[in-house]
Amino acid sequence: MTRSSFQKAGVLQCKRDGGHAVHYVNVSGSIDVDAAVAKFTPGTKVIATLDQAAFDRRYDHMSMHTSQHLLSALLETDLNLPTLSWSLTTYSSPCYVEIPRGMTPEEITKIQERANRLVFEGRKVHIEVTELDSAEAPSVPTLEDGRAAGKALPQDYTGGVKRVVVIDGVDRNPCCGTHMPTLHNLQLFILPHTEALSRSSTTTARLYFLCGPRLITYLTSTHSLLTSTASIMSGGAPLVPERVSQVIDDRKRAEKRVDALETELAGGIASGLVAELNANGADQLFKKAIHRTDDSSNPLAFLNAISLAFSNALPPSASYLCVLSSSPSSSSSAVVLIIGSDEKLVKQAADLVKEKVGVKGGGKGNRWSGKFTGAWKKDVQEATVEGILRGIDA
Ligand SMILES: [Zn+2]
Repeated sequence: MTRSSFQKAGVLQCKRDGGHAVHYVNVSGSIDVDAAVAKFTPGTKVIATLDQAAFDRRYDHMSMHTSQHLLSALLETDLNLPTLSWSLTTYSSPCYVEIPRGMTPEEITKIQERANRLVFEGRKVHIEVTELDSAEAPSVPTLEDGRAAGKALPQDYTGGVKRVVVIDGVDRNPCCGTHMPTLHNLQLFILPHTEALSRSSTTTARLYFLCGPRLITYLTSTHSLLTSTASIMSGGAPLVPERVSQVIDDRKRAEKRVDALETELAGGIASGLVAELNANGADQLFKKAIHRTDDSSNPLAFLNAISLAFSNALPPSASYLCVLSSSPSSSSSAVVLIIGSDEKLVKQAADLVKEKVGVKGGGKGNRWSGKFTGAWKKDVQEATVEGILRGIDA
């Protein structure tokens, strides 16, 4: 909004109050609020303009809103489905109408074809304005849950005139919105599914749709997503679903194989430990530190697998204290697992690992696990762990 003697004031929001359109404007610059309000006294002439961004937004809203009139009219006349509400969602998401039930794919195709035939014909849209006679105003149909539906004027409307939007031969609907002068160029695309919604006792569905600039943006973005995925999968767009499901199957098989190999490897490492323990002599405390380089997303799980296989293969009454650790190939962190036959020795080792190496963690009974943040080095952290074990005696 501008006025010759006044600077520009951006309109932030418009709201209907009875029969008035209330504009919220942003006052910028050095002028204070009282002076700004004084500039907008009743009777003052203002010039309203739209900049490119505002026009684009208006054009998008007009397009989506006009298509909604068309879609709601066809749902009502062809399928007897009233529009319970609709949402002009934020650009560039699809808008939706809320209807009492979901639709079959055949119904969706039929409505879309019907709509696009009328678009092809370029049906005209015009506005009829008559004086409002409240006695003649149609009663408000309400739904089971009390919400108003259909073609009624809002009860607080005091505009004095009744404005009806007419799509030639298709629809007449009271509305104060902005519409396109014709359906021409408003190809309607309905997303081929409905989304079910449950509200306490009633179940409704949302039918999403696109048209005009929003449809073009949607096609552009989905097309670029599809072509970039196709290029990653080294195939044409039609092969994408097949290639993606193949990758998922391959991944599942690979994960299964990794699990099996991990179990086998854990068993192998555990057998090696048991052999060393037996060679150590039955009456001696067996102490051992093992470090692994492992890029697994859950390295502690593998250390646990070794520990489980080890305890299953141990001779009865074996005496041992082991520190298992694992860090990724980048060595940027590590996990540590301490296991032992004697709770006291486990605690003693854990306290020293916390204090001297800086591993944070906790444990219970004869196992303790922790995490180390920072570079894990063979000659520093690992050497310290080995030194700790050497210093512990049963
Ligand atoms: Zn409208």
